[in-house]
Amino acid sequence: MGIVVRNLSKRFGSFQAVDGVSFEVPSGQLVALLGPSGSGKSTILRIIAGLEPADSGEVELTGEDATHLPAQERGVGFVFQHYALFRHMSIRQNVAFGLEVQRPRASRKEINRRVEELLDLVQLLGYADRYPSQLSGGQRQRVALARALAPRPKVLLLDEPFGALDAKVRDELRAWLRKFHDEIHVTSLFVTHDQQEAFEVCDQMVVLNKGKVEQMGPPQELYEHPASPFVTEFLGAVNVLRVETVLGMDLVGEEMPIPLDIPGAGSNGGPAVYVRPHDFEVTRERNGRPAWTARVQRLTPLGGLVRLDLTLLDGTVLHVQLTRDRCLALGLSGGENVFVSPRDLKVFHEAKAFVENYVI
Ligand code: ATP
Repeated sequence: MGIVVRNLSKRFGSFQAVDGVSFEVPSGQLVALLGPSGSGKSTILRIIAGLEPADSGEVELTGEDATHLPAQERGVGFVFQHYALFRHMSIRQNVAFGLEVQRPRASRKEINRRVEELLDLVQLLGYADRYPSQLSGGQRQRVALARALAPRPKVLLLDEPFGALDAKVRDELRAWLRKFHDEIHVTSLFVTHDQQEAFEVCDQMVVLNKGKVEQMGPPQELYEHPASPFVTEFLGAVNVLRVETVLGMDLVGEEMPIPLDIPGAGSNGGPAVYVRPHDFEVTRERNGRPAWTARVQRLTPLGGLVRLDLTLLDGTVLHVQLTRDRCLALGLSGGENVFVSPRDLKVFHEAKAFVENYVI
C-alpha cells in the first residue's frame, strides 16, 4: 500500500476538522480527496506530509509507520495551489532545489541529469533558464510538480494544484496530469473540491463531508452507486423528488416497479428519491411506461445537449438533459405538454442508510 491513514482526528479549538478518517491509497494509484470547502481535505494532506500534527491516528507510507517522523524524513513531495516557486531562482535551480539540500548530496553531474530528465518529463526543457515570472500559471505548476518529484519521493501530495488557474488551462492540465501519472506511476493523493476534476484525473476517490469519509471507490462506481444522499448530490446534478410525486405517477395501468412504501423514506421532510437529469425519457405520446405529464417551461441549448425545465402537475420542477438530436427529433418548444419518465431512480432508505438503484 502506498499511503494508509487510520483513524485520523484533528481539532482546532472546539472545531472537529478531521474526525476518525481512515483510507488507503494503493501503490502507484492517483486518488482524489474530494469534498466541499472546509471538509478537512487540506488538513488531512498536511498531516500525511508531517506539516501538521494529528491529535490521534496513524499514517503509514509505503509500508512504514510515519506517524511520528518529521516532514523532511517522510519522503513526500508536495505541490500547493499557489506555485510556491522561488522567484529569485531560475526554473533549473527551482527543480534542483530538493536535490541540493538532500544529504548525502548527489554529484553535480547527477543533479544536472535529473533536472534535465524532469524538465523533459514536464515538457519544459527549453525553459530551464527562465524565471518563474516569465512562465504562465500552468507552466509554473508543471515546474512545481517537477520540483516535488526531483528527490524521488515515495508519495506525491497535491493540494488543489490547478485551483488558481483559469478554466481552460485547468482542463488542459488535468488531461496532462492523467497522462503524466500513467507514465510515472508515483503514488499520489490529489485534493480537490471539484468533482469533475476528480472524475477526469483519479483512479479512486475518497469523498469527505464534515471531516468524515462518506465513501471511497472508483469515480463511476460512486456515481452509479452512491452510499448516501450527500454523495448522490455532491457527485453531480440531480433532481430531488418527494416520494408522493413519484407515487403519483400516471401509471397507465402498470405497477410502479419500485417499493416506495419503505419505512423512513422521505421522513423528517428529507429527500428520498433522486433522478439525474440525463436519466429521463421524454416522449410526445404515451409509450406504456410510468410517466408524468409535464409542461415545457424552458429549453436551454448547451452545445450538444439541451436542458429542459419541466413542470409537473403538482408543481414539481424537473431539470432534464436531452441530446440535441433527441430534442430536435421531438421538435419541442416552450409551453407544450410532454410525457416524462425516469429511467433510473435512486431511493434513499433512511432506515437502512444506503441508496438503492431502480432501473425502470
Ligand atoms: P478548502 O477546500 O476550502 O481548502 P478543506 O476541505 O481543505 O477546505 P481544511 O483546510 O482542511 O478544509 O479545513 C477544515 C476546517 O478546519 C475548516 O473549517 C478550517 O477553517 C479549519 N482549520 C484549518 N486549519 C486551521 C487552523 N490552523 N486553525 C483553525 N482552524 C483551522
